[in-house]
Amino acid sequence: MNPRNLGSYLTIDDIDVTNKRVFLRVDFNVPLTKEAPFTITDTTRIRAAAPTMSALIKRGARLIVASHLGRPKAAPEPKYSLLPVYEHLKEKMTTPLSFASDCIGPEVESKVNALKPGETLLLENLRFHAEEEKNDPAFAQSLAKLADVYVDDAFGAAHRAHASIEGITHFLPIKAAGYLMDKELKFLGGLLTNPAHPFIAIIGGAKISGKIDVIQNLLQKADKVLIGGGMTYTFLKAEGKEIGKSLVEDDKIDVALPLLKKEGAGGRLMLPIDSVVAREFKNDSEYKTVSVDQIPKDWQGVDIGSETIKLFTQEIERAKTIVWNGPMGVFEMPNFATGTLAIAEAMARATANGATTVVGGGDSVAAIEQAGLADKMSHVSTGGGASLEFLEGKTLPGVKALEE
Ligand code: AMP
Repeated sequence: MNPRNLGSYLTIDDIDVTNKRVFLRVDFNVPLTKEAPFTITDTTRIRAAAPTMSALIKRGARLIVASHLGRPKAAPEPKYSLLPVYEHLKEKMTTPLSFASDCIGPEVESKVNALKPGETLLLENLRFHAEEEKNDPAFAQSLAKLADVYVDDAFGAAHRAHASIEGITHFLPIKAAGYLMDKELKFLGGLLTNPAHPFIAIIGGAKISGKIDVIQNLLQKADKVLIGGGMTYTFLKAEGKEIGKSLVEDDKIDVALPLLKKEGAGGRLMLPIDSVVAREFKNDSEYKTVSVDQIPKDWQGVDIGSETIKLFTQEIERAKTIVWNGPMGVFEMPNFATGTLAIAEAMARATANGATTVVGGGDSVAAIEQAGLADKMSHVSTGGGASLEFLEGKTLPGVKALEE
């Protein structure tokens, strides 16, 4: 079955892993404390891979788990070691787990060969080798040599053509998606191929430049695209409005203009009708709500206003499919988080009423987690950059590699 505008790929339920050496690529790129001893501050990504790990272990795989962490300069650096992940997993797992201080080479190979069915070996950070990010074929082959089967559950890294994601699949013909990868592709793919209508997209965040391709792609698929956040003001300026000291990208006015045309897809774009404006860019600044036609010269837009919240909430209530990426305002400052939280709450209600709700990565995920609403959405994407590129309509190298 493949409702995702994707080629077909196998999942771990389609392949035999018993007694097999399984190379599982995960995204354990977890945030760590800045100072030693380095400890994990958010284990979401580790928990996200747990169903796949458990299933493979239960089925008697000899499991090899590999990930990147941070951006080391292509050599071992203690602050990017996966050892804290190993310590964490050791506490959580009830089956044998060991750690290899590298990800390729004779020591790793002998540890892999010693693995019994149901045992797990966690490899050290893949990016301690520059060849990983270069998608070096020899390095990919050294990784492939460790295993009989390749499983990719690292959706958050699927937009990278790296050796453990793309290159390795040329040397390991049996390849499959893990449960997390499959879930991400089903939900995000479903949005682009056969969403239940009305389908609305809510796009916010700081700048148009980072989201223009997503807006353009979703304008082709969605019934409406609701705009919020900092990018609002570039659109308003393109309409000839005064935007005071609001965030603006003057070089993107040309890009914004055609999207504002009422004919064609542009007619589906919905801008805020009012805005919270602040005198200064700080939480305890004086602030007020004004119509978007009345933004004072010396003030700046920091959130959507109450009328816009009503308007957007009505759209959310009517919709059967909703995707959201990017906050509606400067949600890190509590006084300007109202719009973002209202959207999160409206989406949670929509989910309860049967709509499919997807939150696509990055700051909007942080916002719904902050609001304690993450489990009230149909799907919360674990991949910021990857989900954005997917929604732009791009083919992700990590997904393509599983399809071929
Ligand atoms: P992005 O990474 O593009 O999703 O942008 C997220 C950031 O946009 C958050 O840090 C928000 O504080 C910021 N942001 C949202 N609305 C505004 C605004 N009106 N002015 C300035 N920054 C904003």
